Amino acid sequence: MKMKKRSMAQRIKNIEPSGIRKVFEIANQHPEYINLSIGEPDFDMPMFLKQEGIRAILEGHNRYTPTRGIPELRKVIADHLTGNGIQFGDLLVTAGATGGLLVSVFAIADSGDEVLVPDPYFVAYRNIVFMAGAKPVSVSTYPDFQLRASAVEPLITGRTRALILNSPNNPTGMVYAKEELEKIVALADQYGFYIISDEVYEPFLYSDSFVSLGNLSADAIVVNSFSKSASMTGWRLGYVSGPAELIDEMAMLQQYGYASTNSVAQRTALKAFEVDYEQQRSNYQRKRDMAYAMLKEKFAVHEPQGSFYIFPEAPGQDASAFFQRALQAGVLVIPGKDFSARDTHFRISFAVDDATLQRGLETLLRLV
Ligand code: PMP
Repeated sequence: MKMKKRSMAQRIKNIEPSGIRKVFEIANQHPEYINLSIGEPDFDMPMFLKQEGIRAILEGHNRYTPTRGIPELRKVIADHLTGNGIQFGDLLVTAGATGGLLVSVFAIADSGDEVLVPDPYFVAYRNIVFMAGAKPVSVSTYPDFQLRASAVEPLITGRTRALILNSPNNPTGMVYAKEELEKIVALADQYGFYIISDEVYEPFLYSDSFVSLGNLSADAIVVNSFSKSASMTGWRLGYVSGPAELIDEMAMLQQYGYASTNSVAQRTALKAFEVDYEQQRSNYQRKRDMAYAMLKEKFAVHEPQGSFYIFPEAPGQDASAFFQRALQAGVLVIPGKDFSARDTHFRISFAVDDATLQRGLETLLRLV
């Protein structure tokens, strides 16, 4: 019998395998390396929250929940958003910020549509747009990593459906300026596209310049997560708020995509806004200060205002070559091409203990 070749979806052809995954595998094979590539907090989830999770299991919260999230959690999140002056019509509890980004893009962009993505970007954005069959359009934020309305406007076309922005930013640590965000909101109103604002690093701020997009526009889609603030990345819980009619569509996508989020995680998150992360924030601020002070001696680098990343320029503007040299010296960083069309910078995560950070930075400085 002649066998017919099986085929896979065209949809996946454009998707770019994550370079960060490769660094992750190197780190697993070489636990002795100094790892400055990690994209999650280095502190553990608080004990009282873990206990909430155990209690939820024992009390029998082990069944399906409503697609939009349990009413108690929806209320806690709504109060939190309102307390922060974030305008919204409705909200949805999602599988991390990643789940929120996915249903947002799928509810907005069709095949052939365009989604503006500031470059450098968090790796998932472009690929989620590809998964929706749409086209990511890069908006350069080089050289100072500030997103400007003047860079956005020329790229708007009749197919532009959304802009995905991330402030505080991964990988640059930048916080986008309020005046520019206001101008971008005006562009979104004028040309009729959505702004999806990924605000997962909002707990880790080192300047008071941050504003939520939800403070500036009632039509903003604000994506957030318990992953970083409560250090529960593995629990996969986040939320998205936005205009009610759009949240309705996202809820439908979520219903057929993954039914609902985890019941135990939702019960646990009822207390997640009670986590006092000021100590962790100030620890990261100290590490930020240390990383910036050391790196600026030999690298062109901007001082991060949030998140736990710093994004210096590589010597000779060749980040992949520098990545290899750092690797040979036993230090793991992430080359800029994993976050950008350019390969001129590299990302350091300072979410590591002080001694590791110090040794890693000293090694990188010796390579220049
Ligand atoms: N957005 C950004 C900018 C991130 O850095 C990350 C995680 N590294 C996420 C979203 C994903 O967050 P979550 O774990 O909530 O899906």
